[in-house]
Amino acid sequence: MVNATGRRFVNEGADFRNYTYAKYGRVILNQPDQFAWQIFDSKVTHLLRDEYRIKRITKVTAPTLEALAEKLEGVDSRTFLHEIKSYNAAVDTDTVFDPNVKDGRGTRGVDIPKSNWANTIEQGPFEAYQVGCGITFTFGGLRIDPETAQVLDNGLAPIPGLFAAGELVGGVFFFNYPGGTGLINGSVFGRLAGSSAGDA
Ligand SMILES: Cc1cc2nc3c(=O)[nH]c(=O)nc-3n(C[C@H](O)[C@H](O)[C@H](O)COP(=O)(O)OP(=O)(O)OC[C@H]3O[C@@H](n4cnc5c(N)ncnc54)[C@H](O)[C@@H]3O)c2cc1C
Repeated sequence: MVNATGRRFVNEGADFRNYTYAKYGRVILNQPDQFAWQIFDSKVTHLLRDEYRIKRITKVTAPTLEALAEKLEGVDSRTFLHEIKSYNAAVDTDTVFDPNVKDGRGTRGVDIPKSNWANTIEQGPFEAYQVGCGITFTFGGLRIDPETAQVLDNGLAPIPGLFAAGELVGGVFFFNYPGGTGLINGSVFGRLAGSSAGDA
């Protein structure tokens, strides 16, 4: 994944997608012009999730890296080609690639390491997808008593008769969010809030 300067900016293989997609939105928001391009070569395009095949995406393809570089809108093409070359040279090809586990197939000697699933980008045709940052939730909201789900005021006193659950509750997630836990959060605190309200 490269930004407008043509350089990588994050460890793309730090963990499985469900543990990185929320916090990497914020990382992309901090890049110049707030976008990135994800680059894949033909060795791995069959592994892409279905969302890469919907119509409303920004995708470019090219038979060579040089031709691809010209199509990456907003990206410094010369730095991009140099970055791919350095990245390819750093890939640990001695370790077997396995997308089903954290395979430890990383990079060596680049400023921003990739810890898992590192593959060289050298076999055309190449595909690139432009990505930005969307709002899934605010990571903030009302403070509740975790035992009763009762909403607390600014002085941390419970507000009589007011209970809360779900996405409007703050303090459950902040720096990151593991995919699929929003509905669990809603279920757990929803049951608690409902039973507390019934008891009140
Ligand atoms: C793109 C996306 C993908 C997600 N994927 C997953 C996933 O795969 N798994 C998972 O577990 N979670 C996922 N989540 C999170 C999950 O959807 C939320 O945690 C969950 O829907 C929150 O439910 P809620 O009832 O607390 O809030 P909401 O679903 O936001 O419901 C709040 C309701 O209140 C209404 N409302 C707001 N203000 C007022 C008002 N003044 N008067 C009356 N009504 C009002 C709103 O219209 C809305 O209908 C995803 C969220 C997003 C945005």
